[in-house]
Amino acid sequence: MAEIIKAVKGTGDVLPENSYKWQYIENTLLDIASLYGYREIRIPVFEHTEVFSRGVGDTTDVVQKEMYTFLDKGERSITLRPEFTAGVVRSSIEHSLVNGTLPVKACYVGGCYRYEKPQAGRLREFHQFGIECLGTSAPAADAEAIALASHILKSVGIKKVSLEINSIGCPTCRAQYHKALKEYFAAQKSELCGTCLDRLERNPMRILDCKSPVCKNIAANAPVVLDFLCEDCKNHFEAVKSHLAAAGLEFTVNPHIVRGLDYYTKTVFEFVSGDIGAQATVCGGGRYDGLIAELGGPAVQAVGFAMGIERLMMVAEAEGAEFPEKSTCDIYFAPMGEKAAVASTKLCTALRAEGFEALTDINGRGLKAQMKYADKIGAKLSCVIGDNELDNGKLVIKNMKTGDTYDITLDNFTDEFYDLVNRIAFDDLSDAVL
Ligand code: ATP
Ligand code: MG
Repeated sequence: MAEIIKAVKGTGDVLPENSYKWQYIENTLLDIASLYGYREIRIPVFEHTEVFSRGVGDTTDVVQKEMYTFLDKGERSITLRPEFTAGVVRSSIEHSLVNGTLPVKACYVGGCYRYEKPQAGRLREFHQFGIECLGTSAPAADAEAIALASHILKSVGIKKVSLEINSIGCPTCRAQYHKALKEYFAAQKSELCGTCLDRLERNPMRILDCKSPVCKNIAANAPVVLDFLCEDCKNHFEAVKSHLAAAGLEFTVNPHIVRGLDYYTKTVFEFVSGDIGAQATVCGGGRYDGLIAELGGPAVQAVGFAMGIERLMMVAEAEGAEFPEKSTCDIYFAPMGEKAAVASTKLCTALRAEGFEALTDINGRGLKAQMKYADKIGAKLSCVIGDNELDNGKLVIKNMKTGDTYDITLDNFTDEFYDLVNRIAFDDLSDAVL
């Protein structure tokens, strides 16, 4: 029994007292993305498994070890999305977006599912925000995507992240590189982990992403892809760097970044923080020129990134960023008796229609307990209503911070309430008043 009141390992809850942080972050992400022309896309939490095995690549850790895959009652193989890109591309092909006006600029926010070892910054259900810019091969698009990621990180208060970029080439130059890597790793075959032995045959670049210390050590001296870039990829990378410099973005070239998903080509990048320990990559992305065609769409190119929202919040908090809290209850009506309770319901209805957060007793508590509650929820104003007040048609409103009181007539309540809140100007008035 105890088990069922525990969330599944690697998942978590956002409680009502903390959700303002998530709402603030999500709104900020979407608002800034819209400055760059991005509009939100919402896709299903699950897809046909093949969308990911073909899209993400069946030699990646994500597909080989981390997916939540099951057969549904109709015997279809279904997978909970481990990431969004493959699903967004599937959707853009299905709805012919990539055959229309290009680029298609879509952003998303939502849960992702990966069967990983849970630890700080690594969950089984986590949340990503990301963008996809579909239908452009120009280096300016790569730089614009990177600039957007950087803009977002700054605007949530993150300053201490470094931008690392690399180019992993195209299928043409990668063939040469794979050959060189294969030779290099084959010479040290006896020391590689079991998974990497398999990678050596199927996709040697994946070895560069292995997390085992021995493989990491061997990989440190492996040939670097930058030395194998073809003319086109080299020029593209140089142009991306010029655009980044023009956008005022500092970066370092890290030839060891390969990213964990197979679809990347040319530019790859990461924003890395020194503040959150081992799971330091807050945002990762790159160009994926082959993916749209791979999933059955037209031969158009694309670039995008994804950031982990939990990691984003961890870094922001580690750097001391604060998230603005939604304002609390504007007024609490404390009725004494059933007649007053009905009047309170009427007053709350009128004020809510004007956009005020107006609350009253829905527990049948006595006056003392009600006032304690009003205090606890941080009500700015309170108003006790009893038979006397109803008979006289006069109410007294109390400023909970200063103790000041104000008279208001019942008949003209809403208008006089407006006058009052304008007169006493709280520093944290609800949206309705501002
Ligand atoms: P890592 O190397 O940390 O496993 P990744 O290369 O698998 O990351 P991507 O697939 O590129 O990550 O996902 C983009 C971002 O999503 C990551 O940079 C990270 O911020 C976040 N992320 C990925 N996996 C998890 C997870 N299991 N829990 C929390 N956040 C995650
Ligand atoms: Mg991973």
